[in-house]
Amino acid sequence: MKRASFFPLDIGSRGSCTVGGNVSTNAGGNRVLRYGMMRNLVLGLEAVLADGTVIDATHKMTKDNAGYDLKQLFVGSEGTLGVVTRAVLALHPKPSSQAVAFCSVPDFSCAIELLLFLKGALGGRLSAFEALWSNAYALILESVPRVRAPLPVGSPLYVLVESLGSDPRTDVPAFEKALEVAPENNWVTDVVIGRSTREMRALWEVRDAVSEAVLKLRPFISYDVSMPVGAMDLFASSIVERTARDWPGAKIGLFGHIGDGNIHIVTDIGADGTPRTVVDEFIYDATRAARGSISAEHGIGFQKRAWIGHTRSPQEIALMRAIKRTLDPDCLLSRGRIFPIDAAG
Ligand SMILES: Cc1cc2nc3c(=O)[nH]c(=O)nc-3n(C[C@H](O)[C@H](O)[C@H](O)COP(=O)(O)OP(=O)(O)OC[C@H]3O[C@@H](n4cnc5c(N)ncnc54)[C@H](O)[C@@H]3O)c2cc1C
Repeated sequence: MKRASFFPLDIGSRGSCTVGGNVSTNAGGNRVLRYGMMRNLVLGLEAVLADGTVIDATHKMTKDNAGYDLKQLFVGSEGTLGVVTRAVLALHPKPSSQAVAFCSVPDFSCAIELLLFLKGALGGRLSAFEALWSNAYALILESVPRVRAPLPVGSPLYVLVESLGSDPRTDVPAFEKALEVAPENNWVTDVVIGRSTREMRALWEVRDAVSEAVLKLRPFISYDVSMPVGAMDLFASSIVERTARDWPGAKIGLFGHIGDGNIHIVTDIGADGTPRTVVDEFIYDATRAARGSISAEHGIGFQKRAWIGHTRSPQEIALMRAIKRTLDPDCLLSRGRIFPIDAAG
């Protein structure tokens, strides 16, 4: 019998992105919790260097310790080291069961308890654990009228939970049973379970609508930071509190993949004339204090390159520049991305 397979990367730009872009940004998205980032899904690739050399590393092995893992040099390098022209991707068995629930959660610690519990209760089937802070939930509901609120506003946090499995007869009841236990432990205050494909899609649409909601922000500024999961709660509350104090009219929304320590922040701070660099400094200083990264899944690009020192040590940056100089001495590829255009742009 031929088994159906699928490629599990699922990101907000799924309708427009390319494999080359996914490789070059090491894209993440909604199902990293279960399947890993693009880095974990690339078995091999072909890349063309600045001098025209074709590096054929289209290997198909999972285990391959014959020297440096050259394909990983190109994953996440934002086109600065070579142009990715082919990729060998790892497929996974296509799931035959899906279960989705949307929960209101009293606080961040309950969300983490729920995550740990579901990881154990669902085994490897837990495929997404997506959080919306109350501010992001409100932003979606007021900006995207077609989205119906699955639960009332007012909870500090909302979590979308998904399980993907291979046996609908047992997976869905196990999912529902696990979510029955959660309120008993006070980890969630309310739960809506999608009972059909249409209802599950509607729950996902709430989470996905955030990309549409942000388009109403003027100016629209977004951040994509990561940090140890234990630091996220303090980080999130400090950001929200300072915004309310220093920019009382501003909107801010937090959402993200909390199982991966990834928070996205969207805001219109700056409508009052506050320069972008002041807002960047506010967010990136807080990220550094949390020992986090200024880019979880969107890369550095031109916008964040001035802040790379908040995340990487001088020695790490020097090594990155040395690799860039070796592979692209004339700085022909993606000039100015990641590093300023001087010694090794
Ligand atoms: C609405 C929206 C939602 C998004 N949601 C997510 C999300 O959930 N998770 C996530 O991780 N990202 C997300 N992103 C960011 C982005 O879409 C992803 O990082 C995606 O992987 C980029 O792919 P792309 O083909 O659009 O690349 P592009 O944006 O065209 O390029 C991205 C970078 O890769 C380089 N590049 C592109 N192709 C190649 C190639 N063949 N060889 C070498 N370098 C190359 C470019 O030079 C550039 O530096 C989102 C973006 C948008 C607009």
